[in-house]
Amino acid sequence: MNKLDLEELLFEVEKPARYIGSEINSVKKSLDTIKIRYGFAFPDIYEVGMSHLGMHILYNILNENDEIFCERIFSPWIDMELALKEKNIPLFTLETHSPIGDLDFIGFTLQYELSYTNLLNILKLGHIPIRSKDRQERYPFIIAGGPCAYNPEPLADIVDIFVLGEAEEVIFEIIEKYKEWKERSATKKEFLEMIVDLDGVYIPSFYEVKYNDDNTIKEFVPKKESYPKEISKRIIKELDCVFYPKKVIVPFIDVVHDRAMVEIFRGCTRGCRFCQAGMLYRPIRERSIDKIKELAHELIKTTGYNELSLASLSTSDYSKINELIRYLIDEYGNKKIGLSLPSLRLDKFPLEVIEEIQKVRKTGLTFAPEAGSQRLRDVINKGITEKDLIETVKNAFSLGWNNVKLYFMIGLPTETYEDLDGIVDLAYKVVETFYSIPKEKRARGLNVTVSTSNFVPKGFTPFQWQPQDTIDVLKEKQEYLKSKFKHKNIKYNYHDTKTSFLEAVFARGDRRVGKVLIKAWENGCKFDGWRDHFQYEKWMEAFKESKVDPHFYANRKREYDEILPWDFINIGITKKFLIKENEKAKQEILTHDCRISCTGCGINQAFSGGVCNV
Ligand code: SF4
Repeated sequence: MNKLDLEELLFEVEKPARYIGSEINSVKKSLDTIKIRYGFAFPDIYEVGMSHLGMHILYNILNENDEIFCERIFSPWIDMELALKEKNIPLFTLETHSPIGDLDFIGFTLQYELSYTNLLNILKLGHIPIRSKDRQERYPFIIAGGPCAYNPEPLADIVDIFVLGEAEEVIFEIIEKYKEWKERSATKKEFLEMIVDLDGVYIPSFYEVKYNDDNTIKEFVPKKESYPKEISKRIIKELDCVFYPKKVIVPFIDVVHDRAMVEIFRGCTRGCRFCQAGMLYRPIRERSIDKIKELAHELIKTTGYNELSLASLSTSDYSKINELIRYLIDEYGNKKIGLSLPSLRLDKFPLEVIEEIQKVRKTGLTFAPEAGSQRLRDVINKGITEKDLIETVKNAFSLGWNNVKLYFMIGLPTETYEDLDGIVDLAYKVVETFYSIPKEKRARGLNVTVSTSNFVPKGFTPFQWQPQDTIDVLKEKQEYLKSKFKHKNIKYNYHDTKTSFLEAVFARGDRRVGKVLIKAWENGCKFDGWRDHFQYEKWMEAFKESKVDPHFYANRKREYDEILPWDFINIGITKKFLIKENEKAKQEILTHDCRISCTGCGINQAFSGGVCNV
């Protein structure tokens, strides 16, 4: 696009900085010298995409290579979409403002099922056909990865190549093959044939699915004998040896997480039975403390950020967390660089350390007991007690905190109204604990925010066979909780039930829900994760028109012998282990943290080579 066209577009939109690129640390390369053009696409707006750590990692690792130019693509907001359509300008990349159709690859990250319509919208606005079968030779290959790619089937008609697992290595193997293929000027299908054997690569068009009369899956068949029957995820074995960006793009405008992020480890050993990330990212792999220090130093130097976040699924589980935090406070505290520690567990809450951190910047405290009663916390294998919570908040209140957020999930398997009462009791106990502290020793005023999300059963978890509560049941539960929270210090927030329902449909959907997705998008659905834009009725129309029953996917209990749409993917955790965990849940039996001793999930057999920590 030329400069004048761009300027004209930017005059029409509310936040031009979302589209101009050229931020500090963004990469510029000459289109004459590079061989491969890759578009990293995040199917949501700039502010959300720029906060995503995976984007920064992949953007930088690809751009380290002189032959590749990785540019960014985000969903244009409604105003920009209108302007693009009016002027018939194809969606463009941020780096060179080129039409996205000019690229060799467009790689989407799939973080959330409700962003799928945005993926379609990006393709359409780029003047690229949305179905893979309609994209002839001149269009880019569409790749997708990220947590939702572990159930790739809803996007089987749209995406050419799925990458399962950590993309850092796989992507270069794909690109190497692409270079070979480009020289041969062969067909697109021939390229897909060249990469079908790579570990972590899944080509949906090479497989066929057959169904039983009751609509369950009968068979998942490779179209050729030579195509792999099972696809294994890819993992990086040594985190210290793998690339991590030492400089990241600093946006011109406020984004959701505006800070430097160092990933301190991957994986989680706790085994909460609803948690997909905890299973997908096993085994646990830590970055060394020296490496983290080095990265923190570089990132702060190159970005000028005054906040550093230690990212992981469960930050307080890092084996040297206290040593690390002390170091960072000593090093950066007097430079007024704040530390943020997302994902802290209640049973290992380093309050003294948090207190030090708060001297630089004071924030509220967030805890996730997940369930209100001990019984239900045992069902989900949360491994924390009411005592953990009350002791931690008591200490926090004595140290001057007066702002607490409590996260719960409703609709969990086996949940009863007694468990919901447990949520209420817990919140009131937190209030009581605050007032039990002598007036002169506590802060003034108290805010307790209770938030409930709705349980969404996800693949590769022990709860993958469990039904989701219907929308009506979830709503009743929310109403019940609402009626119980009448205290001036307690605020109750809850998540929309309809979006959770749709999330459940796509989380466990097969190829048939992909047809619904296309229909819903054709009917105008997009930004489904945004409350003001979600059009539930249009979705229900699309299900009806496609003759697909969403309840079949969201609210149905599966038997252990049913073929699940993602059964051909091997994440290293055995089905036997997941079944055992689901059965233990029913009996309210806990499974210990596998850092204590092996619980036999299977990952150490699936990925040998010293990757497992026991
Ligand atoms: S193999 Fe054992 S130690 Fe390793 S992740 Fe699984 S349960 Fe944990």
